[in-house]
Amino acid sequence: MAKKKEKPNYRNFKLIKRIPIQYRTVEERLHDYKDLHVNYTDEDIQLQASRCQDCGIPFCHGYGCPVSNLIPDWNDLVYKGKWEEACRLLHSTNNFPEVTGRVCPAPCEESCTLNVGLESVTIRDIEMTIVEKGFTNGWIISNPPLERTGKKVAIIGSGPAGLAAAQQLNRMGHSVTLFEKAPKAGGFLRYGIPDYKLEKWVLDRRIKQMTDEGVVIKTNTYVGKDITVDALHKDFDAIVLACGAREARDIQITGRELSGIYQAVDYLTQSNERVDGISFDKSALIDAKGKSVLVIGGGDTGADCVGTSRRQGATSVTQIEILPKPPEKRSEETPWPQYAKKLRTSTSHDEGCERKWCITTKKIEGTNGKIEKVLAAEVEWVKNEKGNWDMKEVAGSEFEIKADLIFLAMGFVHPVHDQLVKELGIDLDPRGNFKTNNFGYGATSVNKVFSVGDCARGASLVVWAIANGRAVADMVNEYLLK
Ligand SMILES: Cc1cc2nc3c(=O)[nH]c(=O)nc-3n(C[C@H](O)[C@H](O)[C@H](O)COP(=O)(O)OP(=O)(O)OC[C@H]3O[C@@H](n4cnc5c(N)ncnc54)[C@H](O)[C@@H]3O)c2cc1C
Repeated sequence: MAKKKEKPNYRNFKLIKRIPIQYRTVEERLHDYKDLHVNYTDEDIQLQASRCQDCGIPFCHGYGCPVSNLIPDWNDLVYKGKWEEACRLLHSTNNFPEVTGRVCPAPCEESCTLNVGLESVTIRDIEMTIVEKGFTNGWIISNPPLERTGKKVAIIGSGPAGLAAAQQLNRMGHSVTLFEKAPKAGGFLRYGIPDYKLEKWVLDRRIKQMTDEGVVIKTNTYVGKDITVDALHKDFDAIVLACGAREARDIQITGRELSGIYQAVDYLTQSNERVDGISFDKSALIDAKGKSVLVIGGGDTGADCVGTSRRQGATSVTQIEILPKPPEKRSEETPWPQYAKKLRTSTSHDEGCERKWCITTKKIEGTNGKIEKVLAAEVEWVKNEKGNWDMKEVAGSEFEIKADLIFLAMGFVHPVHDQLVKELGIDLDPRGNFKTNNFGYGATSVNKVFSVGDCARGASLVVWAIANGRAVADMVNEYLLK
């Protein structure tokens, strides 16, 4: 690697190669659920930061990043060793950079100008390093408001959207109570994303900062069941729904009733709880040890099932997807600075998995009520006269996949339409999400009730949940101070 230059000359990208933080070897990491990253030095990260060109129009900041992180500015500060300033700047746009620095798919890197013909700056690694240095050096402390407004806000759901809205509203001086039906706060950050991508002490550390600042978190409290909507209306000046989009897509085919078929999120939730020390009865346990696993759905949730199954000792893991295999490189369909539609291989895929595309599942078969195999077939996608894609099964392409366990990872349709939704009587959009006056966040059809995150925009990303959580906080603040 080239030696550190005395001054950034904005041509360092020509001298210094992109080198992302490396991962532990597959052999080593399959024995545990610990973070994948290996150690790196400050100098490595400073050199990588110096590759930033400080573009006149930074697409990473203004186009790629949903929270509009001030990327070129903190890259420059990092290069100059001004870590504390970089940490302050990073927190001015993002409440949880330690989370996005680990799990964000980094649309900023896709829209980095170096990505036109060269290789983008390792923005996500730099973000993670800044925030970790911030915690290590005690620069990230609780920041409670100097005065209270006397207004009370209830937030329902403690995923990244609810947490971001809570931290912002509390810092504005409002008294915030966060209601969460699960035993611990964090939403999918805690009960979906596996520890090897996001260890849970990372969440606990930030949640402690928030409770030190005055946010009240009531876990094991299912709003609509343990507490009524009427009670919330009576006790709070504003209500924010941040319930997530948790109605998982299912398949309705012969054999669906057999045992051994689980929703991916139920499997991942249990696995994360086991990593957290909770034990389960044999009858309730979902464990891939010694099993042939089939994951239906080629996305990130499916990939998390692959990595978790491999850690539990599955004998084989196959992941199938009904859509065609994406192109190896960015195609004309998604030109720079857009997020490229291309084949993405996650760390979980590197851990051992057969991936197949253009596959439909026709029937699940088994004996004594237990699954044994899946009857699948190849499909092709053909454009019709209207320009839309039609799916056609390829004649004679049927084949079998042996499976002792099947995980359904086909996405989420909308928030659960439970008692809370019925009691509130809010309008839904055509997709079944909570209808808001802005895309992804805003006021609902019910007075003083707002909504944010996946329950308002549909299943998305952590970084969008944070961005929209911050935006809804501004909107609620304006409403409360009117
Ligand atoms: C397995 C998996 C892996 C993922 N990996 C990534 C990734 O690597 N990178 C990325 O950017 N995104 C990832 N995502 C997506 C990301 O986690 C979500 O987009 C994000 O968590 C949505 O945040 P949210 O706050 O809107 O909802 P959620 O995180 O779903 O949180 C909603 C919370 O509301 C609570 N709740 C719901 N109803 C009630 C009620 N009535 N009373 C009390 N509490 C209630 C729920 O228990 C939950 O805790 C992943 C998702 C999954 C499922």
